[in-house]
Amino acid sequence: MSATGEILVVGLGPGPEHWRTPEVSAALERATDLVGYEPYLARCPERPGQARHGSDNRVELDRARLAIDLARAGRIVAVVSGGDPGVFAMAAAVVEAVEVDEAARDLPVTVMPGVSAMQAAAARLGAPLGHDFCAISLSDNLKPWTLVEKRLRAAANGDFVIALYNPASKARPTRIFEAFDLLRGLKVGSTPVAFARAVGRPDERIVVTTLADADPTIVDMATLVIIGSSESRLIDRPDGTPWILSPRQASGGAA
Ligand code: SAH
Repeated sequence: MSATGEILVVGLGPGPEHWRTPEVSAALERATDLVGYEPYLARCPERPGQARHGSDNRVELDRARLAIDLARAGRIVAVVSGGDPGVFAMAAAVVEAVEVDEAARDLPVTVMPGVSAMQAAAARLGAPLGHDFCAISLSDNLKPWTLVEKRLRAAANGDFVIALYNPASKARPTRIFEAFDLLRGLKVGSTPVAFARAVGRPDERIVVTTLADADPTIVDMATLVIIGSSESRLIDRPDGTPWILSPRQASGGAA
């Protein structure tokens, strides 16, 4: 066998180069092969001689297995995700592929963190994640919708700030409306809501509103949605989007 290869599981961050860690940039430079969803590979700098194995978005485990095969053949494989690779992304697929393939357990696998969309969105919004929060993917590709509803209810009852990933796609245009209907039954109308679209990219758009006024029509697959807790409040700013503050201290009084 040739020299042992390795797998570098990297997160590109939400978009711009300056939100990509130096560790990840160095990994992309060192890799002989890139594996990932095509639009993410398109965000990696071209390197002569580097092989690119693009795929569509639905075959995460196949992609992870390909990375293992390439690494076994001695290649240095960067498995590429947007944001952070551990948040609704490829780290879980790689670890799962290694779990079921005992022969792959001794492959060197390094997971490198990235800035996740909720962190980028929060940075634009002041401090919406300043207190306890949770992240829920609205995609029901990999889990039943009834489980999403159960978790939305639990998050509302636990009074967490909620970050919603994958809020809509062409295949699932209405789930975000169902989620808002459910949350409107459980939380007060004045709860702050933010739609943060394409944060850090040229087409960034941030809308700050309330649960009562929010119109999820503007939500698409590049949007991260934040819904406040009972303690979250809007802070008006004369020259820009209002901030959302979820203060560090909570009374625990309101439901
Ligand atoms: N691993 C990624 C998330 C992948 S799921 C991360 O940590 O960010 C894809 C979802 O992430 C999108 O549907 C959207 O909800 C969110 N997202 C990714 N990049 C974004 C950006 N620049 N602005 C807003 N939301 C983004």
